[in-house]
Amino acid sequence: MELARTTPGSGDNPQAAGSQLHGLVQQAEAELDLAEEQPLYVGRTKIYPQRVRGTFRRAKWIILYITLGIYYLLPFVRWNRGPGMPDQAVLVDLQGNRFYFFFIEIWPQEVYYLTGLLIIAAMTLFLMNAVAGRLWCGYLCPQTVWTDLFQTIERWVEGDRREHLQRDAGPWSVDRIARLGIKHFLWLMVAWWTGGAWVLYFADAPTLVKDLATFEAPLIAYVWIGILTLTTYAFAGLMREQVCLYMCPWPRIQAALTDEWALNVTYRYDRGEPRGSVKKSAALRAKGIPSGDCVDCLQCVHVCPTGVDIRNGPNLGCIQCGLCIDACDAIMTRVGRPPRLIAYDTEMNIKRRTGGLAPIYRIARWRTALYVAVIAIVGAIMLFTLATRRAEGVNVLHDRNPIFVRLSDGGLRNAYSVHVLNKAHEMRQFNLTVEGVPGAHVTIVGDTVTAGTPVIAVGPDQTRELRVLVTTNAELPPAASLPITFIISDSKSGIKVRTVDHFFGP
Ligand code: SF4
Ligand code: SF4
Repeated sequence: MELARTTPGSGDNPQAAGSQLHGLVQQAEAELDLAEEQPLYVGRTKIYPQRVRGTFRRAKWIILYITLGIYYLLPFVRWNRGPGMPDQAVLVDLQGNRFYFFFIEIWPQEVYYLTGLLIIAAMTLFLMNAVAGRLWCGYLCPQTVWTDLFQTIERWVEGDRREHLQRDAGPWSVDRIARLGIKHFLWLMVAWWTGGAWVLYFADAPTLVKDLATFEAPLIAYVWIGILTLTTYAFAGLMREQVCLYMCPWPRIQAALTDEWALNVTYRYDRGEPRGSVKKSAALRAKGIPSGDCVDCLQCVHVCPTGVDIRNGPNLGCIQCGLCIDACDAIMTRVGRPPRLIAYDTEMNIKRRTGGLAPIYRIARWRTALYVAVIAIVGAIMLFTLATRRAEGVNVLHDRNPIFVRLSDGGLRNAYSVHVLNKAHEMRQFNLTVEGVPGAHVTIVGDTVTAGTPVIAVGPDQTRELRVLVTTNAELPPAASLPITFIISDSKSGIKVRTVDHFFGP
């Protein structure tokens, strides 16, 4: 394109045009060489995060203990639901089509609770982002939590950053190979236990542990443990920050959702620049020349689990874990400068401080109010529906073909599939009646009792499917489609549930 645009403009001098063309060809060749030297894919630089102490590190430890404790131990928590019912507090019962969460029991028909939970989860994520950036990424995301755990194991076995770097740069030795072997073995053990804990949410945990140990568990349990062992080992042990940088969509979404009021881990360059060594800065200050607080020690980079230099500004690789704040605070304390050269702050406040104005922090704003309102409304609807949830139900499905049958005695018959739900934890009996069709008579296919109102027994926490025939000998108007109401009533308490379908005629 460049050649095509330039050549005609070379004028009438063929020598000048020739030399210009030659120059452009050389330039193009040089650019091609450069492109060959700088491949599109840049290999990963291994990160050796240094141990750090401080407020944010403590917060991360506490969250790590709580989240991992919940994940590994929750399947063993018991919850009494009465005789014959599973007593595991949190259980996904795939065979029985139920999800148990302490006192809550969700049936497949109530999958809208899952929708509500997903809305609340999304809004909570947006709210965290609007208040303080990637709180989820830095503290709560499973990728962060397990990577933190795996890095801790790595430091136990291979030493802190300096020791680990030196060993990796040195020759292979028995000590190096042994440490590498121990580290990967421990990683695999944690990954295996992580996969093992996952399957415990899908069956009675103590029984499944016993079955797994005696190789009597179903094959699918071993397959899932194998899959989760490998993914945990690969994601938290080998890929680490690569998952956040290249696989996870949230950093991109978060970048699009953030605004100028959201707090983010920020290097206060108004305070830090111009940076220089402690001696150089002291010498400058002694001469009355201003110098920044950053002593260019690179501690903030060395502790970073994703290898980011936060001093270069906002970065998609920064998971905002706050560890660089701890590292820099320690340095500032040692050099006698105020802490929080790196802090949760906004770009706007840096500009305000530079202009001599006081910083502004605004957590309550339209965006956060909207997120809180949606969470509150959806949460309230879910609580209300849970509190007023019925322990019985009926669903009816009309036969598609034939939609009606003319009997030999002139009567009309429609057939339906009827599901009766008993969500109570005891056996119940229901009477089945219909309304809306003159002279209608109800029979249940396979029921030996043909006279009177059919009685349906449904076991505790069960559904019963019936094939029901509704027959009438009454005269119906031509091309009739009458609404028909199916009513089930508990024979003991008298509680009734209704649902409407149609009764068709010729
Ligand atoms: S730059 Fe700081 S906050 Fe961001 S990931 Fe690195 S250590 Fe964590
Ligand atoms: S830790 Fe603080 S002082 Fe050291 S390089 Fe980072 S910002 Fe500068």
